[in-house]
Amino acid sequence: MSSAARDRDRTSSRRSDVAPRTGDLLVFAPLAIEARAVRRSVTRGTVLRTGGGPERAARQVGAVEAAAPRAVAVTGFGGGLDPSLSPGDIVVATEVRGPSGVRPCPGAELFAAELRRRGLPARTGPVISVAHLVTGKDRRRLAERGALAVDMESAWLAEAVGDRPFLVVRAIVDTVGSELLSPSTVSGGLRAARTLRRAAAALDAWVDALGAHQVLLAAPRSFCAGVDRAIEIVERALDRHGPPVYVRKQIVHNVHVVQDLERRGAVFVDSATEVPEGSLIVFSAHGVSPEVRRQADERRLRVIDATCPLVTKVHAEARRFARAGYTIFLIGHEGHEEVEGTTGEAPDAIRLVDGDASDDLNVADPSRVAYLTQTTLAVDDVNEVLTGLRERFPQMSGPGSDDICYATQNRQDAVKALAHACDLLLVVGSENSSNSNRLVEVSAKEGTPAYLVDDENDVELSWLKGVATVGITAGASAPERLVDRVIASLRGLGTLEVEERQVVDESMRFTLPVELRDVNERTR
Ligand code: SF4
Repeated sequence: MSSAARDRDRTSSRRSDVAPRTGDLLVFAPLAIEARAVRRSVTRGTVLRTGGGPERAARQVGAVEAAAPRAVAVTGFGGGLDPSLSPGDIVVATEVRGPSGVRPCPGAELFAAELRRRGLPARTGPVISVAHLVTGKDRRRLAERGALAVDMESAWLAEAVGDRPFLVVRAIVDTVGSELLSPSTVSGGLRAARTLRRAAAALDAWVDALGAHQVLLAAPRSFCAGVDRAIEIVERALDRHGPPVYVRKQIVHNVHVVQDLERRGAVFVDSATEVPEGSLIVFSAHGVSPEVRRQADERRLRVIDATCPLVTKVHAEARRFARAGYTIFLIGHEGHEEVEGTTGEAPDAIRLVDGDASDDLNVADPSRVAYLTQTTLAVDDVNEVLTGLRERFPQMSGPGSDDICYATQNRQDAVKALAHACDLLLVVGSENSSNSNRLVEVSAKEGTPAYLVDDENDVELSWLKGVATVGITAGASAPERLVDRVIASLRGLGTLEVEERQVVDESMRFTLPVELRDVNERTR
């Protein structure tokens, strides 16, 4: 902000001490130019110009008490500390650091994600409040402390807020490459005013989502034994052999797991044919067809197989039925890696049933048909398909025990047990995770709207309008820490009560491939 703007603001700062009207939201905007930008957009609250700098900010305790708002937001311009910030970028504070300590702002991620959905360049990170304008060396010194942006009011305003939901939203004017009072300040300021106005328009959606929430946590949720094992296989392979460790396809269907392993040196490929000869390759938890094993042999790849033992069991059943001359109906989703791997075990015998069983099911010998299923389907959907198949083929054989795995079944049972008590269910999992998608469908069938989210950034504020109870679960490939992050982000909307509802205790563990076991594990 320019010194002229500050001077103008100083002359009129008395007006900022007037108590605002009571409303849902009290929005602080230090300078006149900032208040003007924000006022145009905020319809669900009162915008109060405080005047710039710590002293004026510190006088606002009374204003908050008088207005008794449900929530408070500080909006205005800020200085960028991180070199990657540009004028006009929005920084939403995850915490505000000031002379009296650190004030966490747990609502930052949900709000910033809302801004990004609206096309705004929003980032989250610590904002530090100081008592003087920051340039040059000071900027570098503050950046070294890990702060993303700097301002001159938020920490003092935060002291007036109490435990209300609190946001700090700063539009960046000056940056590492474009200091205050340089020729670029005017254009940076105009850009910042525009994005600040658009960011303030999202405060209405934030206000609508505010309130006390109860979270019902489904249990079991998150990693199953097959996913745990597959991830540990890649981690141990990296520890023992060093990077790169090639992994065919995503080791499990979760974007966070894949990114974590990539950072550690795993290289994900679509095909064994892309891997340099003689390298180490891990096959994913979803299993591979014999053709993929042949390709790996041809390239003399060293193979570690992370196929889940429950998928391996389905492969064995496919081979057994095919050897006995059966036509096998494989109930599953076309294109899913597990289905491709299983089909590859007996391509001439397997007929995919994707959806209901009304497809062309003519077979040479109706007395020799069998069915198998993908492990991660919805139990009720499979039963529906099986009913249709059994009407047509009363003598149909099936696997020795259900192919729908224990983890899929348990996570669906846990959702069924709590969905009726929730206004909304959030399923943490990636778009390509079959079992996570089935959890969404199970909830919808119970009459509770459900959304698949990779993490808190996918949670839309509009979903939470009028919602008191939020159910949360996670697919078998989604890490529990992502559930923690979603819960933490909801805390930014008001008081939160968390209760876990467990339907069954899971203790299943699968042993690692012998080549990756420790010496003491080999003797077990
Ligand atoms: Fe194995 Fe079931 Fe987990 Fe898939 S969901 S990896 S089949 S335990």
